[in-house]
Amino acid sequence: MAIRVKCRHCDTLMGYLPSESAERNSRVKELKEEFAEEFIMQDEQGKVTIKSTCEHCEQSLKLFPNYYAINKWIQ
Ligand SMILES: [Zn+2]
Repeated sequence: MAIRVKCRHCDTLMGYLPSESAERNSRVKELKEEFAEEFIMQDEQGKVTIKSTCEHCEQSLKLFPNYYAINKWIQ
């Protein structure tokens, strides 16, 4: 089962990290060391989603950090 990578701001699917089920648990462990724990979601079916920031949002965040803070607050 592949690991999904989604933007945590706009929810855009950024891609998949391919991983074999046999090695998935060690891969998730690796990712947990690489990313902050709160950016890794694992649902009851064992699907793993990494919350990252897409290029578009990264640029917007740099340009309008306040806009994004407000936008998030409204949601
Ligand atoms: Zn985004």
